[in-house]
Amino acid sequence: MKRETELARGQVPSLDRATIHPFVDATPGPFFYQRMAHPVGVEAERLIGELEGGDALLFSSGSGATTALLLAMLKPGATIAVADGGYYGTVGLMRDLSRWGLEIEPFDQTGEPPVADLVWFEPCSNPMLTFPDLDVAIGQAHASGAIVVVDNTILSPLLLRPLELGADFVLHSGTKMLAGHHDALIGVVTCAREEDHRRLLAFRTASGIVAAPDPAWLMLRGMKTLALRVERESATALELARRLSGHSKVERVRYPGLGDPIAERYVDAFGPLLSFDVADAEAAAHVERSLKLIENATSLGGVASTLEARARYEGSRVPPGLLRLSVGLEDVDDLWGDLAQALGN
Ligand code: PLP
Repeated sequence: MKRETELARGQVPSLDRATIHPFVDATPGPFFYQRMAHPVGVEAERLIGELEGGDALLFSSGSGATTALLLAMLKPGATIAVADGGYYGTVGLMRDLSRWGLEIEPFDQTGEPPVADLVWFEPCSNPMLTFPDLDVAIGQAHASGAIVVVDNTILSPLLLRPLELGADFVLHSGTKMLAGHHDALIGVVTCAREEDHRRLLAFRTASGIVAAPDPAWLMLRGMKTLALRVERESATALELARRLSGHSKVERVRYPGLGDPIAERYVDAFGPLLSFDVADAEAAAHVERSLKLIENATSLGGVASTLEARARYEGSRVPPGLLRLSVGLEDVDDLWGDLAQALGN
């Protein structure tokens, strides 16, 4: 059955918020306490596990999922090689964990990863939009003994299935494409191996970094339209990237759909995220203030397009005039009209 059909069919299970379910015959059942498991969460894990091709676990956010994965799988003294130009919060969290004896080395994910215990990739990285040669780079990481994590937040399992390329774990901020409506904070890790799944589940249960039923339900409901959103948002993002490339006030556009030969080998469409540079921080602030349709807001992957200057968070990691645009479901000409008037035609 096609994935679109699989996602659309049937009903979202009812929203069970109970933290306890009574024992049966003096024996705890599968849902006896919510921190261990709850019915909506288990259904979301089944669906995402099927899409990614592994065993999925939900967490309280994408960053919660990252925290759990690192703490459950690594020991003090371990080294992490992380894609430079990927989500700054991931790098920031890793740097914070260095107090616990982890060593962090950002690297250019378009080349060979350095030797490390864990290598972290982010295809269509946020916000630099780089794309690793996954087959080769995962092979190199494994050859040097690393475990491999791919943050698949931007593309979703409908465009890229990293476990099939050899990754050991796939991570999502489900807050973005999977939930898709800017109304649920949630994270997911899918494990290639059962023993890793058991270990991560035990850590999640002990630490309590788990998703509540409400965001899990919203994500499940959002996933009914995931296929449609991925297709439409990718098509609109590509068209806007092309038009931005020809605009006199735009110095550079980053979108793998504009001819990245590596990305083209792995995906048929390139997701909702792009970034582009205007002259400087002042020009970027002018665009932010001038928007009428696109929301000047953070986050990405929702049905409403969002745009923001990233230097306010990431300082010298990004050019001062870098604007990140997440494309939603609005009409492409309406979006272009808004961008063009905000840029000053
Ligand atoms: N990974 C990527 C690529 C992200 O863009 C984000 C958030 O922006 C995260 C992880 C963290 O997710 P969350 O905000 O759900 O904690």
